[in-house]
Amino acid sequence: MKAYLLSILMAASLAAQPPKEAGDDKRGYTDTPQIPGQKWKVHDAARARPPKVTPGLPLLNEAPPSDALVLFDGKDLSQWVTIGRGGQAGDPTWKVENGYMEVKPRSGRLVTREKFGDCQLHIEWMVPKGVEGAGQGRGNSGVEIMMRYEIQVLESNENLTYADGQAASIYGQWPPMINATLPQGEWNVYDIYFDAPKFDGEKLAKPGYVTVVHNGILVHNHQEILGAAIHRKVATYKPHGAEEPLSLQDHGQIVRYRNIWIRRIKGYDQP
Ligand code: MG
Repeated sequence: MKAYLLSILMAASLAAQPPKEAGDDKRGYTDTPQIPGQKWKVHDAARARPPKVTPGLPLLNEAPPSDALVLFDGKDLSQWVTIGRGGQAGDPTWKVENGYMEVKPRSGRLVTREKFGDCQLHIEWMVPKGVEGAGQGRGNSGVEIMMRYEIQVLESNENLTYADGQAASIYGQWPPMINATLPQGEWNVYDIYFDAPKFDGEKLAKPGYVTVVHNGILVHNHQEILGAAIHRKVATYKPHGAEEPLSLQDHGQIVRYRNIWIRRIKGYDQP
């Protein structure tokens, strides 16, 4: 409890300091465009960081439901390919050991072999102890739904960054309502419920929506996604398939994942 109070005090004292300068990555930006429908700029330095809440005991490493597709059971990466930064596909080289996979920095993101539309996704992640860096530079990865709608993964228990870029944010759009991030070295759980966008030719017919539960706490409640996440820019939609792969971001930093499973949401009265 003492450590927790101390971390709150530290976060509060950090938050009270004004940004050092425009473009300071740790605090946010003052020169980015306005987010449509919000009073904030993209990665706004002045946007309040969400309050910290200590999760109850999350259900860790629980078995998936029987109709889930297991994307990673701790043993192998057979459900994944790598897409390198040059766009080339190949066998993943991320490390697998002790029941988790670990980002191999700059080897490329992991992309599922299968594609998904509306879905329920369970994924656990951890930034190992000893990983250093600040702002967007400590334990940055991301759950990229349809390879483009990023739920941020970042060390955000102590590490300050702009609100719409901290862990569990819909990157560049919405901070989580609550900061439920556990300390470095502990496993976090995301349960993500995704309602895919629909396109009518080149036009957006219906935006995507996402509900995110972080360590058992609701942090996005059927929130509208404004488009694909882009650093320092307003997110926009570009047409894509009804189903697209899920990807895990390689941001050049060490992050571990385990117990990843997904269920396609078919809706009512479906066989
Ligand atoms: Mg990221």
